[in-house]
Amino acid sequence: MNARILIVEDEPAIRELIAVNLRHAGFMVSEAETAEAARVQLDAGLPDLVLLDWMLPGQSGVELARRLRAESRTAKLPIVMLTARAQEGDKLQGFDVGADDYVTKPFSPRELLARIRAVLRRAAPETSEEPIEIAGLRLDPTAFRVRAGERTLDLSPTEFRLLHFFMKNPDRVLSRAKLLDNVWGDRVYIEERTVDVHIRRLRLALAPGGHDRLIETVRGEGYRFLPR
Ligand code: CA
Repeated sequence: MNARILIVEDEPAIRELIAVNLRHAGFMVSEAETAEAARVQLDAGLPDLVLLDWMLPGQSGVELARRLRAESRTAKLPIVMLTARAQEGDKLQGFDVGADDYVTKPFSPRELLARIRAVLRRAAPETSEEPIEIAGLRLDPTAFRVRAGERTLDLSPTEFRLLHFFMKNPDRVLSRAKLLDNVWGDRVYIEERTVDVHIRRLRLALAPGGHDRLIETVRGEGYRFLPR
């Protein structure tokens, strides 16, 4: 799926130049001349990233960024600020209002694209991941779907993340502690036995196609996902 980018820039020549380059790079682009026009578009649907000019007639880009950050619906919307002013103080203010990055005019299209891609990667690592296929199991992180041959497996979010982590690390012994850190997150306190419970459920879900044999118990160590 191509990322959608909203360009908020009042200078038509610059807006058009950016739009042409982003479309050429495969992004879906929409445009707004003012912060007010951007609000109308954002109310109708959220893009994956907003490219926001600092100086706009009416409400400034900085003010719009601040308001977007203050609302829960848009608090995590990735924002890249554009500005003609290169002073350090402005840059700091840009980050202060919550911009994810900051590009100073004039910039090369290549530099802008690199910054946009980096921000999108940081914002949504899951959506940029490619499907993985091992031993007849196909996991699509974007669609949140696992297929065993023609069959779609019914997995809980935790079992899905567990299987995803296994498939990204085939043929490696993974301790329960490592699985907890990567699948549950290291800020959550959960007993290591919980891992075994979810492994059991995951094996049950994989059993009809015989894929449960891919998850091997390594006595005293943890688990290993066999690559074939
Ligand atoms: Ca401007």
